[in-house]
Amino acid sequence: MAQPAYLTGDAPAINAFIDRFDVFLFDCDGVLWSGDHVFEGVVQTLELLRSRGKKTIFVTNNSTKSRQEYLKKFADMGIPSDVEEIFGSAYSSAIYISRILKLAPPKNKVFVVGEVGIEKELRSEGVSFIGGTDPSFRREMTPEDWKGIADGSLLDPGVGCVLTGLDFHINYLKLSHAHQYLRRGAKFLATNVDSTFPMNHNFFPGAGSISISLTNMTGQKPVALGKPSQAMMDAIEGKFQLDRARTCMVGDRLDTDIQFGVQGKLGGTLAVLTGVSKAADWEAKDAAAVPAYYVDKLSDLLAAAK
Ligand code: PLP
Ligand code: CA
Repeated sequence: MAQPAYLTGDAPAINAFIDRFDVFLFDCDGVLWSGDHVFEGVVQTLELLRSRGKKTIFVTNNSTKSRQEYLKKFADMGIPSDVEEIFGSAYSSAIYISRILKLAPPKNKVFVVGEVGIEKELRSEGVSFIGGTDPSFRREMTPEDWKGIADGSLLDPGVGCVLTGLDFHINYLKLSHAHQYLRRGAKFLATNVDSTFPMNHNFFPGAGSISISLTNMTGQKPVALGKPSQAMMDAIEGKFQLDRARTCMVGDRLDTDIQFGVQGKLGGTLAVLTGVSKAADWEAKDAAAVPAYYVDKLSDLLAAAK
């Protein structure tokens, strides 16, 4: 497969690259920051792109935070942004449910396996839900649970959809409820299906580790609403009216970000080496996707200004 163009240190190539696009979609963790540490030069790089009239949109698979919470994270990191520029997998899921699934009574409720970010986005779209952070689901199973889940008396007949994201309080009770709703015909959605996510120079179980256990129980695969799902790309295109040919996806992970851009037939994809994937990953025969361009770090684009 054709290998990417390396832009680091090549100012004319960087200028030509920037001129090729009107919109840049940015992955967050691994591109702008790592955990709570913002990478040097990120703020200036975004400033440079914006000063050249480029639209910047931030696309994250992290469903544990709502757009408003992300906005606060951007502010804490000193990165100027606007809530309208932020597109997370919790929001993507909420708009998919409200505008595409259009769940209607008597099956209009969502059973949430996930954190508060999902709940806030569902609320903002007027979607009813149960589960999530409700303390009555954050406990051990009792004999009444075993009985009431089996005979359905403890299940809510209004649930028409199960939505899974990363849930730091995942337990057997929630899995049993979700499993039973799916067996009874509820639609299966996942905010994202990342196997792991990076943290403290290591990896932890991602949202996909939860949805895949339900797949194992039911044989059903979820509709995923995070990168690389094209449902998310369609939602972004619908919201921002972007021209795909003039849009570039910037990311650190081949199997989510770069694949998202390639499958979405964007004009370009730029990989940065400050996160998960390394050059050896796209050089491998079984590479998930190959970017069109790569730089060592996002701020290498600042060479365009010199
Ligand atoms: N999911 C969780 C829970 C995360 O914390 C992260 C990164 O911090 C991700 C997914 C991946 O996010 P992104 O798409 O911004 O790399
Ligand atoms: Ca990332």
